[in-house]
Amino acid sequence: VTVDFQLTEDTRSLMSDVRDWALTEGRAMARRSDRELGVSPEMRDKILQSCPMDVSPLMAGHGAPDRSGNKEFVIGERDGSHILGVGVTELTAYGDVGLTMLMRGSGIGSSVVELLGTPEQSERWVGGIDRGEFSKTGFALTEPDHGSDAAGLTSNARRQGEGWILNGRKNMCSHGAEADYLIVFATLDPALGHRGIRGFIVPGGTAGLSFPKPYEPKMGIRSTPTAEILLEDVVVPFDHCLGDPERTDGFGQAMAALGSARPYATAFAVGVGQAALDVARDFVGAERSVFAPRRWERIEESVHRMNAALERCRLLVRSAAWRMDAGLPYGREGSQAKAYSCPVAERIVARSLLLMGAEGYSERNLVEKWYRDVKTMDIWEGAGNIQKLVVGRHLATSGPTTI
Ligand SMILES: Cc1cc2nc3c(=O)[nH]c(=O)nc-3n(C[C@H](O)[C@H](O)[C@H](O)COP(=O)(O)OP(=O)(O)OC[C@H]3O[C@@H](n4cnc5c(N)ncnc54)[C@H](O)[C@@H]3O)c2cc1C
Repeated sequence: VTVDFQLTEDTRSLMSDVRDWALTEGRAMARRSDRELGVSPEMRDKILQSCPMDVSPLMAGHGAPDRSGNKEFVIGERDGSHILGVGVTELTAYGDVGLTMLMRGSGIGSSVVELLGTPEQSERWVGGIDRGEFSKTGFALTEPDHGSDAAGLTSNARRQGEGWILNGRKNMCSHGAEADYLIVFATLDPALGHRGIRGFIVPGGTAGLSFPKPYEPKMGIRSTPTAEILLEDVVVPFDHCLGDPERTDGFGQAMAALGSARPYATAFAVGVGQAALDVARDFVGAERSVFAPRRWERIEESVHRMNAALERCRLLVRSAAWRMDAGLPYGREGSQAKAYSCPVAERIVARSLLLMGAEGYSERNLVEKWYRDVKTMDIWEGAGNIQKLVVGRHLATSGPTTI
């Protein structure tokens, strides 16, 4: 099989425009949105309107070429939407991760609908993002007592007449209170374990849906709200249960959705790591004359090692994205990319900060912010420790990857 990460020349040129835009807009909004815990809707619209491409379908992980009709975004003879998607994700995170989170369709709520939903649900709820009817979606899986062991969740759903009644509590839901709709995972019967779990579409504003904590104060990614959600006798119509309610693999499908998001989640980390390294390199480069030659050589060597490590991470991400585009299994590769790359990116941001000394620690630069932001990446979309277990299990059962 030929592995081909090559983008067409037109697409490369567009990506270069996206990079310039991400640098201008991302860096300009980063500090303020971190301090003010978000951006105003007007500012958000202004930023997004100036983006050289409509990246929202890519951010939603469901492929730009088919949905937006941008047929120039092809790699070789086939759609390369995930390769392009992770590339754009990395570039926007390179500007600032707050910019990536700002994108219309960011978050995995809509990709879950795409994976689990019926064609009608997909048309209404995913198509709604492409049509501009919806902007933010939320993926509400985590509960106060169930994170990594999400299969033990206790939020529940029961049939009533022509609909469903949902009760429970979720936490750490990105975009939660701002989301146009949430995908809430709940069990039809706790005795069934993971086989009882289904995903439900809960539109924002539904009676009984409330946010006791619309913004969880946190270390990084502060411009994106992370909400606690309370569901008290929330009624949704029958067709708001994703897919066929009789299917018992809803939880597996939710895990698959998280799996398809992992190359994207990892691309965030690569973008942030590269941003910190480049800022630190420029900073010390401007001060080069103050370093003794041997000290300068050690700095260059350290920068080289960090850059090569990021390139390894990037290749792991692209390899997983390429497999998604090629229709090959990608679960192990996505977990491997995330488990390996997020701690690497974290160390690179920490070393970049150190390279800049007190200047790196100061709010005069964004590296201290990225130091706080990058920590999230090893936690969300499935903590790194768990991803290592996933890869270990894959290797034990099916051996190493062959392509
Ligand atoms: C900024 C941010 C945004 C988030 N957004 C969302 C969202 O939009 N939707 C959503 O549903 N969730 C979201 N989360 C929650 C996130 O997915 C969970 O935090 C994550 O799954 C870990 O769960 P936990 O926090 O309960 O930690 P725990 O599961 O309690 O884990 C704590 C530690 O123990 C380790 N651990 C747990 N079990 C094992 C095991 N069996 N073997 C080895 N190590 C283990 C973990 O790796 C971790 O290091 C978000 C989190 C953050 C920080």
